[in-house]
Formats: sequence, C-alpha cells, structure tokens
Amino acid sequence: MSRAKLSNFLKLSKGIGKKIKYVFIAFSKKKYLLNFFFLAVFFVIYTLIVNQIKFYTKLKENNFNSFLKSNEFNNIKEFIFENLKSPYKKYNYTVENNDTLEKVLKKYNINKNEINNIASGIIKKKLSNIYAGTKIQIVTKEGKGTDKIVSLFYPIDAITSVEIKRNKDEFNITKIVLKLKKKKIVLSNTIKNNLYSSAVAVGIEPNIIVEFANIFGFEVDFQRDIRTGDAFEVYYEQYVDDDNVVRNTGKIIYASMFVNNKELSLYNFKHDNKEGYYDVDGKSVIKTLMKTPINGARLSSSFGIRKHPILGYNKLHQGTDFAAPTGTPIMASGSGVILRAQKYKGYGNYVSIRHNSIYVTAYGHMSKFGRGIRKGVRVNQGRIIGYVGSTGMSTGPHLHYEVLKNNKRVNSQRLKLPSGKILSNEARNKFEVERIKIDVKLAELR
Ligand SMILES: [Zn+2]
Repeated sequence: MSRAKLSNFLKLSKGIGKKIKYVFIAFSKKKYLLNFFFLAVFFVIYTLIVNQIKFYTKLKENNFNSFLKSNEFNNIKEFIFENLKSPYKKYNYTVENNDTLEKVLKKYNINKNEINNIASGIIKKKLSNIYAGTKIQIVTKEGKGTDKIVSLFYPIDAITSVEIKRNKDEFNITKIVLKLKKKKIVLSNTIKNNLYSSAVAVGIEPNIIVEFANIFGFEVDFQRDIRTGDAFEVYYEQYVDDDNVVRNTGKIIYASMFVNNKELSLYNFKHDNKEGYYDVDGKSVIKTLMKTPINGARLSSSFGIRKHPILGYNKLHQGTDFAAPTGTPIMASGSGVILRAQKYKGYGNYVSIRHNSIYVTAYGHMSKFGRGIRKGVRVNQGRIIGYVGSTGMSTGPHLHYEVLKNNKRVNSQRLKLPSGKILSNEARNKFEVERIKIDVKLAELR
C-alpha cells in the first residue's frame, strides 16, 4: 500500500470510528433499553445452544444404541469374549452376487497357497457353485504372517452341504448329503383371509402353496372367486431327515378346492411321459393361457376406453393391469417361445411370448427379466419371465398384460380359452386306476 493510500485509509477509519462513537452515545442515553436488548439476545443464543447440545447428546445415544445392536458390535463382542486368548478365529460370511469361494477367502488374511488348494479342490469335486445368500462358516488359525484354514462349511441346498477340513497340510473336501425319507401328508383348511395365510396356518410349505396356486391357475381367480369359508385340501410329498424335520418337498399328488359352491379335485397323473393334473373325468387342467399370470395381484385397470393416467386423455387401454408390489414374479401365461425380452416403447422392460399360430401374450413395465429369459427361448407355462416394476410409461408398480389374437389385442379376461384335452382309451383306464389308488390313500391319511 503506498503512503498516500495509507493516509487516506487512516482518515477514513477515523471517520468510521467517530460515527460508531456517536451511535453508541446515542444508545447509552437509552441505557436500559440497550441492556434489555443484550439480555434478550443472550437469552435467545443460550436457548439455541442448550437445545443443540441436547440434540447431539440424544443423537449420540441413538448411535450408541444402534451400534450395540449392530453386527459390528456382535462381532467385536464375539471376538472379545471368545477369541481374545485363542489363536482361532471364526467368521460367518454371507455370499454376495458374483462371489466365488476363492474371492471370499481372499477377503481374509489367509495363506494364498491354501486358497488355491481349496479352490482347485472344489472345482475338481464340482462343488464350486455358491449362491448369493449362502452362509459360509470359516475357522482359521493364526500362522506366521497369514492365517491357516482349519475348516470351512457351507450349504449348497436344503439337503447338501460341503465340509472342508484341514488334514495336516492337505484339505479333505466332503460333500454331505442328508439321508431323507419320503413322507406323504394331507393338509386342509377353510379359507379365512386368503389362500396363502390359511395354508401357512396349517403348516404347508410356501413352495407347495405356489405350486397349488399354479395348478388351479386356470380354474380359480384367486382375487375374485375366493370367499371366506371356501376350503382346500392338498396331498403331497415331504422329505424328512432322521429328526423328522422337513428338508424338502416333492410333488403335489392331489389338490382340491371348494370354491363358488363347487368342488374341484385334481389328480397328478403321468401321461406321455409328462406329469399333469386331471379332474375326476380325466380332463387336463392345462389350457392354453392363464387369465392371471401373477399371484397376489389386484386387477387395477381392465381392457377398454379409459382416461390415460399419464397422457390424460381418453384412450383404448389395450391390456389388463394388475397392481402388485415391485418384484412380484410374473409367469408365462402359457407355454411358448419368447419373441421379445427388451426395453420396448412405453412398455419399459417388455416380454412377449408366441404360444401358437394364433395367440401371443405380452407383459410390460417389468423391473427386471427372469433368469435366462431371452429372445428365442422356449418357456413352459408358469415359468417366471420377469418381475413387476414401473418402467416405461407407468405411474406405479403393476403388470400390463396383453393377449394378442391374430395380432389384434383382445380382452384377456373375456377370452374363451380352449379347454384341456381329455384322456381317452388306455390312458383313461390307467388314470382311473391311479385315481382310485389316490382316493384310497387319501381316506387313510385324512
Ligand atoms: Zn396397462
């Protein structure tokens, strides 16, 4: 700063100083008012600070509480109480997408040679497939620099697991398969709220309930046909271990529903090397297309003229909408070949299936596609082709379902579907024998 500028600056500050002085004198004449003003300001600031402190203390407490409940704390606790003096460490790891056993082991301070040994060992024994969600138990022992593996354990499915144990410098890899006994069971209930909860209430396994709903998918609209007091019965196979714990389920042998004052009983029967379900007259339950290719959904918009929820004007709604939570599985409503499985116009993620020379079905707004669903793939009826979402022109999660008859969109809910084939001659006689056997066994087990 030059000398001239400096002196100018000093003059200016003096001026400002004077002005402040005047203001202060003017205020001191009203001393009481000023004191009151300061007191008020102090009080406001004090209250703010006290509240802030209270807020942070509370936050810390909450953080601490959630920390106490967290896995992190449990791990530390386990570590402190169990492993402090021990050279052994135990880890429980939950497999994530794209994990391999090798990748998992590399997350820990484990000797690289041992990881390679185990990785090649399980590949040789064809046990290298691990799935997201699988829980792996790993026990290690401290070594020089890196840790050594003592044992490893992980399940492959409900009855198979893999055990890897150290044997000096080698590893014994064992596939453990539970010995299961087949057991047949009959369970029934009246429906109070919905099929699912009434079936769970009597101990029916979820996959049997899904299968049951699939079998009746052509005959019963689970959204509208079911009334309180309707009933069902299911006769199926369970696989139990030595402790009589159910480890797996087999097929449904017989299923019956009492709906709309009618009883419909279906029998499992193998014909032409294919298992299917037939009614008492030997008529197959399979029809070309399902009315509702989704379980647990609500019909939210039918086929016809409506005010478009996004465009705002009246337009022909050329499909049927089923509202359901994001991620609800969508089934192929009939067997056929995938025409499209891609993002498509306002449909978002879209799948279409050609069933025969006349019928095509289409499914829109999916959050994602089913595993292996690509153009050209043949799917069976009931196969999961995708999951409910809200992609494309959509205001909320739902399935937009279309049936195209000779390339023209038609109302899927009004469609007169061709009924299933009827067993004849020799097959019919075989079925009759089978059906009577099932009925006898049913009477025994009820
Ligand atoms: Zn729609």
